[in-house]
Amino acid sequence: MEFYVTEDPIIKCSNCGQKNKISIDDLDYDSYFIGKYNMGERFEHVFGYEGICGCCGTRFSFSIKGDEYPVGALEYQYSEADGCEIVFEPAIAVNYIGYDIPEEYEDIIASSVGELIEQIRRDYSVVYQITSRQFEELVAELFVEKGYDVTLTPARNDGGKDIIAKRNDDGIPICLYIECKQYDINNPVGVSIVRSASGVRAHDKVNKAIIVTTSRFTRGAFKYANEENHLIQLMSLNELL
Ligand SMILES: [Zn+2]
Repeated sequence: MEFYVTEDPIIKCSNCGQKNKISIDDLDYDSYFIGKYNMGERFEHVFGYEGICGCCGTRFSFSIKGDEYPVGALEYQYSEADGCEIVFEPAIAVNYIGYDIPEEYEDIIASSVGELIEQIRRDYSVVYQITSRQFEELVAELFVEKGYDVTLTPARNDGGKDIIAKRNDDGIPICLYIECKQYDINNPVGVSIVRSASGVRAHDKVNKAIIVTTSRFTRGAFKYANEENHLIQLMSLNELL
């Protein structure tokens, strides 16, 4: 099993504004053991880079990090930057080739989306044990149940919309962009995610952006969504189940 960055990150120098594309091959990779929790071990995978702006000579560094929990699942991704801004943050993905999934997770990882929904309706904690892609598939299926035609966007090409859901309401076509955030309950969805989903919605001129999470939303996120009125909706997975 291998955690990897799917595309070349692009950064912008904080001093002169020069954009630099950094090759994936130039990233330094390291992984750290964070601790042992109720579902087993947690690791952090870090893809870091230190460099000098080719235009003005300013030093910069950044890192793209992914938390693995439980073993084999990318729980969430985040980043840090110093002396630069990450203008394109590629997704971290997991390559399972050659990896034996631990027996205790085999059922969860191997089950079909329909079975998964049933499992989660019985035991909500299962939702924290699946991969982020499975979570997207699960949310997509719940919108299918609501009569939408859904398309999952490619994992590597995530621009504020994981799912595109379309429906025809009495001749009126409706198009939704759905962003899925499978976060731990202690890691609420903040305003920056709402703002970026809202930006993508406005740019692509679709009816509504929906953010579905297993966590909760910050006060700032709610305030921003309220100001956007019906154009953006924040949902807990519970509301969909
Ligand atoms: Zn510069």
